[in-house]
Amino acid sequence: MAGLDKRFRELSRTVPIPHPWDLPTYLNAVAAHRGRTITLLPVDTPILSGTGCGTGSGLWIAKHDSDVIAYGADTTEWHAEHIIVHELGHMLLGHGAEPSHPPTQNYAVITDLLPSISPESIAHVLGRSDYESTRERDAETFADLVMLQAMRPQRRESLLHKTFFRDRR
Ligand SMILES: [Zn+2]
Repeated sequence: MAGLDKRFRELSRTVPIPHPWDLPTYLNAVAAHRGRTITLLPVDTPILSGTGCGTGSGLWIAKHDSDVIAYGADTTEWHAEHIIVHELGHMLLGHGAEPSHPPTQNYAVITDLLPSISPESIAHVLGRSDYESTRERDAETFADLVMLQAMRPQRRESLLHKTFFRDRR
């Protein structure tokens, strides 16, 4: 946990968390940092049950030259963003498959469920079975930390404060 704290601080310097929070801006920053575009694919949560990681509502599909994050979109905006940031956590924390990682049986399931993705385009899929619980916990903690930082009220408060006093003068 101490190790993750340190990595989180380093990562938030390399890939700054936008203030005010804006998911598309953060996605672009992560994509630029990794040199791979990231596409979001909203789906119905039940589609991912059994394949998704974390609480089962997110799935990182690594294509040969870009990444897709499928996420259960039938939830609150905050929760959906938490799911997406959890997957970004896996990316930033280097939880990708080893080059020798054998293809998983997931592919057929994935492409059946997500017809917009062709089996040939997939390099690897990181679903539930690919993760030990440490990685899952780290990605979840990473998402918690990002969302906490994102919701940190200081800046907005100080802006409010300034406006308040300016208006009073
Ligand atoms: Zn996960």
